[in-house]
Amino acid sequence: MIDFELTPKDQEIINLAREQGKIAQRYASYYDRHEDELPPEQFPEANGLPNPIDLAEEASDSSGARILHSLVMHEIYGAGIALHRSRWGLGNTVLDTVAAPEQIEKWKNHTIAIAITEPGAGSDPANIRTTATFDRETDEWVLNGEKIFISQAESADAAMVFSRFVDANGQRGMTTFLVEKGTPGFTVGPQLRKLGIRSHDTCNLLFENCRIPEFNHIRGDFKSTMSVFNDSRPMVGAMALGVAHAALDFTREMLAKSGIEIDYRGSIRSRSAITDRFLRLEATFEAALLTVLRSKWLEQQDVPPKVEASIAKAAGGKAARKITQGCIELLGPEALAEDHPLDRCFRDGRIFDIYEGAGEIQRLIIARSILDYTSRDLR
Ligand SMILES: Cc1cc2nc3c(=O)[nH]c(=O)nc-3n(C[C@H](O)[C@H](O)[C@H](O)COP(=O)(O)OP(=O)(O)OC[C@H]3O[C@@H](n4cnc5c(N)ncnc54)[C@H](O)[C@@H]3O)c2cc1C
Repeated sequence: MIDFELTPKDQEIINLAREQGKIAQRYASYYDRHEDELPPEQFPEANGLPNPIDLAEEASDSSGARILHSLVMHEIYGAGIALHRSRWGLGNTVLDTVAAPEQIEKWKNHTIAIAITEPGAGSDPANIRTTATFDRETDEWVLNGEKIFISQAESADAAMVFSRFVDANGQRGMTTFLVEKGTPGFTVGPQLRKLGIRSHDTCNLLFENCRIPEFNHIRGDFKSTMSVFNDSRPMVGAMALGVAHAALDFTREMLAKSGIEIDYRGSIRSRSAITDRFLRLEATFEAALLTVLRSKWLEQQDVPPKVEASIAKAAGGKAARKITQGCIELLGPEALAEDHPLDRCFRDGRIFDIYEGAGEIQRLIIARSILDYTSRDLR
């Protein structure tokens, strides 16, 4: 039987995440305007409080640790509007999933960004042009290429770089390398100016004859490497819904201030148009959150989600766009004022339908699964 029930201890961790998100919320406007400054790992008011993400990861007695983790991210994004700075990067998940034990041991405490996207290679990694050529004389790989829009590029200790390779025997394929900061030939560009999530550091990376020891070659097969997205996509859906949640809360509050209480009783005939529209946005939110919980619940049962991860990502990203825009429509011109939380929710919410696989790509994956098509049949 499907069950999303959490233990009282899990609920305490979620409450802690909400509390810390609310602290971060006080700084959201500042970091939205000062995008060259990275927020601290912990705000002064949160000093001494445990990190809810660490607690969620360590909650071995939880009834649903995977579900708990997404709900913690949901709360942090909901209140803090994407202000959270993580010590964990998606490159860490690749390391844990496919690296050799001695590689995991060496880099387990590093923050590792993931570097896939290139000019002309975003949705389709088959277009990646970064190359790694093996140098027999020095036993090193020589990496050349450019990566764009890389999250945590500045704050991470290393990047997990997706690249084409030509090995010593002339074999070709796609693989990953862990490139540490400070490696000659590896340059991190300046912070990019973005529409939203401006508190996140996002930069381009350049590799120019960058020499990497063979030890840094993460040899896991490419399919397993790509499977990390089955874990991260529902998580991004949860984060998107956090922003949508913040927009709904704020709109409810603003409507109440102008004398409009959202009344959940009665039928469609007795509701005002504004209440009806608000309830429809809430229903969109609830439905999308269920897709996230279902995907994480499957993970919890050791059934790797595939299409369910794409459904959760597509539903979360689309809901964030629809809900933040719908809230602006409900509040009218007032909602468009700069420095208004809704303005930021609207801009932050847009990103979740782009990164970790755009909404259109998730819908392609879902369609292939329903129609039993391969990626060659439907692209
Ligand atoms: C703030 C931010 C942070 C990011 N962080 C990272 C990161 O850490 N690491 C990383 O590697 N990348 C990162 N990205 C890049 C992100 O993953 C890509 O932008 C995304 O995958 C889309 O790729 P693209 O920009 O090349 O667009 P394209 O792939 O060129 O797509 C452009 C548009 O066309 C649509 N489209 C593409 N193909 C199809 C198709 N077959 N059918 C229908 N529609 C299609 C897309 O959905 C999109 O709307 C980040 C991006 C942003 C904005």
